[in-house]
Parts: sequence; C-alpha cells; structure tokens
Amino acid sequence: MKLILLGAPGAGKGTQAEVISDALKIPQISTGNILREAVKNGTDFGLKAKEAMDAGKLVSDEIVIGILKDRIAESDCENGYILDGFPRTVPQAEALSAMGISIDKVLEVYVSDEKIESRLSGRRVCESCGASYHIEFKPSKVDGVCDKCDGKTIIRKDDSPEVVKDRLKTYHDQTAPLKDYYGKLGKLETVIGQDEVADTTKLVLKAVGVNG
Ligand code: ADP
Ligand code: ZN
Repeated sequence: MKLILLGAPGAGKGTQAEVISDALKIPQISTGNILREAVKNGTDFGLKAKEAMDAGKLVSDEIVIGILKDRIAESDCENGYILDGFPRTVPQAEALSAMGISIDKVLEVYVSDEKIESRLSGRRVCESCGASYHIEFKPSKVDGVCDKCDGKTIIRKDDSPEVVKDRLKTYHDQTAPLKDYYGKLGKLETVIGQDEVADTTKLVLKAVGVNG
C-alpha cells in the first residue's frame, strides 16, 4: 500500500503516519525528518535546506524529489510506504507520477488554522529520532525525554509563532492545491483532526481499512 498523508503543519500527520506505519508494517517516510537530519549533519543539501526551513518556506522541489527518490529505492519500501510531508507542491506530485508510482490513497488530516497555532506552541520533538510530542495533548512519559530513544525533546525552531504563520501561508498557497489534484483522481479522503489524538487515530485507521 502506498499512502500520502496531507495536512497543514501541526495537523498531526506525522503522528498519524507513525500509527499507520505500525499497523500496516510499512515505513513512514518523512521528508521533514530527513531534511532535519541532513541539517544536523551539515551535509551539502542540509546547508541549502536550512535557510528555507528556518523561515517556514519550502525546500526546492529538486532537492526533496532527489531525497524521496533515494529513500523509496531502499529495500524496506518494497511493500509500500506512507509519505508524510511529500508531495507538498503540484510539481512534486507530478514527479511521483512521472516515476511511475501509483498512490492508493491520499489522506488529509484537517485542522483549522486557529487550532494549529495553539497546537504548535506546545509541540516538542526528539532531537535524536524525530518523534513528536505535545506538552498537553501527547506528553512524553518523562518531561524533556523521548519515550522511544531517551533523546532530548526540544522546541523546533520553526515552531515559533511568527514562523508558524509563514508555514500556514506556504501550506495554503502551495500544498493545499494538492487536494484538488488528488481529489480529481478520486484518491482524496479527509479526516477531521480531533482534539484527542486517539480519536483521530480511530478515524485514520478506519480510512485505511484497519479495524482498531
Ligand atoms: P510540518 O509539516 O510540521 O511543517 P515537516 O517536518 O513536514 O513539518 O517539514 C518541515 C520543513 O521541511 C518544511 O517547513 C519545509 O521547509 C521542509 N520540507 C519538508 N518536506 C518538504 C517537501 N516535500 N517540499 C519542500 N520542503 C519540505
Ligand atoms: Zn527519540
């Protein structure tokens, strides 16, 4: 199964992608996590990506398409995958299609801009493995420590209120048109993000055909 998770920053697509990944035993591919890792390691494209990411803008299509191509060529992707944060522009979607990849379903997790602004202010991410938490809605067991790898959880630089506004604008301008793109292909299904993560998860699993 090949799935795309679509949603504004902070709508919870990463969290839901993790759940689907566990349920269907297919890898979650997060271009955001791959890019942050590259920035941390100071690789060539990490340096190029950093400026755009810190400003809440998109990294160039060329770079992310290259990253994605390499990642899906790995052996764990043979039985499918969940794309979390890719495609984010129509040209990226066209690139997938040009690679001959047929997507089974595009799941949109919808949350209003207003809610997103409050959610992102409480978000924490693990600096080692990228797992995502929220101080109120999804706290780690020990404050400041990742449940999965004992890494340190930190506030992402682009979760500051000013950058969040820019990220939302970028989403509406460049990514939201994908709803139309995949809607026309009959692949789009929208799930309304609930206040409780577990409630959203139920809807998401149902949408991908897993009875929880
Ligand atoms: P979020 O969805 O919460 O904004 P991500 O972790 O998915 O966060 O992405 C963080 C940043 O990485 C984005 O703001 C953007 O700069 C960059 N990025 C991630 N995926 C893509 C992509 N497919 N195309 C362009 N830029 C991307
Ligand atoms: Zn971790």
